[in-house]
Amino acid sequence: MPRPIQATIHLDALRHNLQRCRAAAGDARVWAVVKANAYGHGIERAYPALRGADGFALLDLAEAERLRALGWRGPILLLEGCFEPRDLELCSRLNLWHVVHCDEQIDWLSQHKTHQPHRVFLKMNSGMNRLGFRPAAFRAAWTRLHALPQVAEVSLMTHFSDADGLRRGREGVLHQVEAFVRATRDLPGERSLCNSAATLRHALRLRLGDGGGALAADWVRAGIALYGSAPDHPAHAAADLDLQPTMTLASRLIAIQPVAAGETVGYGSAFTAPRDLRVGIVACGYADGYPRHASLSQAPGAPVLVRGVRTHLVGRVSMDMLAVDLTPVEAAGGPCHLGDEVVLWGRSGSGAVLPVDEVAQAAGTIAYELLCAVAARVPFAVDEADTP
Ligand SMILES: *Cc1c(COP(=O)(O)O)cnc(C)c1O
Repeated sequence: MPRPIQATIHLDALRHNLQRCRAAAGDARVWAVVKANAYGHGIERAYPALRGADGFALLDLAEAERLRALGWRGPILLLEGCFEPRDLELCSRLNLWHVVHCDEQIDWLSQHKTHQPHRVFLKMNSGMNRLGFRPAAFRAAWTRLHALPQVAEVSLMTHFSDADGLRRGREGVLHQVEAFVRATRDLPGERSLCNSAATLRHALRLRLGDGGGALAADWVRAGIALYGSAPDHPAHAAADLDLQPTMTLASRLIAIQPVAAGETVGYGSAFTAPRDLRVGIVACGYADGYPRHASLSQAPGAPVLVRGVRTHLVGRVSMDMLAVDLTPVEAAGGPCHLGDEVVLWGRSGSGAVLPVDEVAQAAGTIAYELLCAVAARVPFAVDEADTP
């Protein structure tokens, strides 16, 4: 028998979450952001559910090739654009739309030989200070780009730093929206502003001050919400936003230790049993991508479901194993046995759900990191079931 850990991708949940993003986006079209191998889900695995999107957005040219190999003929957007001039050849060959965020990328385009002019998304740095032209330089970049025979159409985009919070003024996005609108007011072209957080939290509520249309604009870029995580957790839980878990990481009990009061569990003796306990040993460790920071000290560690009942980690996570307190599980359903189901995040066979956001929070990180970090040694399965 292989080691019992497994990740399962739920296509019904991906479809459902895509519908949720679509509903929140109003009239805007939806990019399914599938960078980082579809946030760790696997592009090929997620594709049957996400092909209902209007386009795919990603960063890696090899991932764009994989989408074309799957038969996707619709839009693909390279969110960081080209990394060197010869990337433009692949854009021409595969008809990839690409972000232009710096002068060098315009230089490369001006030298590029192509029969098919490109669709580009000119990116504004409206406050994130990562990629893009500052508002004051935006128009000059647009004019240069627009004049190139290599360019068929220029669309406009920006990215929010605080769409998941209330920092930087009302709703976290308004100062950036204002900078974007001010600098683009009389420029033609489609617009794309919102990530998941902005789409779900703001798209339907905020209107641009000048009546210039919904913040949702022409395209939204939905990433983490597709994968069932609340972008603004813990302000909202995934269930509050009607998002369903798309990945289950599950394993089984491979040992049960009766631990007497005063004995310790695991490396560093970081946990001392306050009373007699039965501790379940689970085939999952940090070498599977489970976060070691989920349990470091005496305090109860991250939540976990054993046979669908919620309990928590005790002691440190080791490379291949972690330990859980079986008390609530056995109180609910009698003694545990080897082989009992353990859900690290996602859905239990019993129907119980453990949101990945809660595990991430317990580990001091965000769901994005956990979903992307499931290790190569973990086998994946695809659950094709339709929504009940
Ligand atoms: C990753 C990314 C997104 C998606 O962000 P989520 O928070 O996952 O929705 C949108 N736009 C850009 C430019 C990105 O890099």
